[in-house]
Amino acid sequence: MKVALITGASRGIGAATATALARAGWAVCINYIEQTEKAEALVEALRAEGCAAICHQADVADREAVFAMVARVERELGPVDLLVSNAGIAEQRQFQDISPAWWERMLAVDLGGAFHCAQAVLGHMLHEHSGCMIFVSSIWGGHGASCETAYASAKHGLIGLGRSLAAELAPSGIRVNVVAPGVIDTDMVQVLGRETLDDLARNVIPMGRLGRPEEIARAIVYLADEASYTTGQVLSCDGGFFI
Ligand code: NAD
Repeated sequence: MKVALITGASRGIGAATATALARAGWAVCINYIEQTEKAEALVEALRAEGCAAICHQADVADREAVFAMVARVERELGPVDLLVSNAGIAEQRQFQDISPAWWERMLAVDLGGAFHCAQAVLGHMLHEHSGCMIFVSSIWGGHGASCETAYASAKHGLIGLGRSLAAELAPSGIRVNVVAPGVIDTDMVQVLGRETLDDLARNVIPMGRLGRPEEIARAIVYLADEASYTTGQVLSCDGGFFI
């Protein structure tokens, strides 16, 4: 059974991705930082369906914790064949109000987490001459986002990391791709308020609705399982937000 590590997977896009991958036959490790009960409930639900799943609490910005997590996954499920680097934080703030500490935390989680995870799983992939990494960026990884400069900087960085790593690792049989969601109806965007979300759906998003976590999960499963000749690409899933 092939093994997938999905970061930030106790809820939202990560949970939907872990579920879709597990149902597609992957043994999954559900990484999370908080809400242990949600992560454990997801593991139980997947096991009840006959899937192989564990969960592991770790801050992806903490390099030692990431390497310890990957070591546990190797012991309990096997070496990681697929990394889905999904954990992320976001906050709207005017540029002059961003403290150095907040800037560093944002970059450490949203970009540094992918760096640590990719390095932690790479040894096995290089050895096997096969493997797949998928970084979850954002539409704000390819466009400017007012009041989200730290988030957009990190998400731009993820696309640069993904493309560069794809070029470096293609000769080693490892594919690296990026998914760029638009506005997806998860906890992350609830801070905008229902009125703003409805307005976005009605007046900004050509498809006339927010995306669902399961729709991003399907794109990730496609990149992992089907897109065998695709690497270094950014797959936008945004209902036509940017065309
Ligand atoms: P979410 O807030 O529901 O989920 C984020 C997950 O990451 C949570 O489980 C959270 O606990 C976890 N996490 C946060 N910091 C972590 C850390 N340091 N270590 C480990 N886990 C951590 O949001 P979501 O919408 O499911 O977001 C998933 C990813 O998709 C994020 O990277 C986000 O930036 C990206 N994204 C979301 C949207 C959207 O509209 N929801 C749009 C574009 C991109």
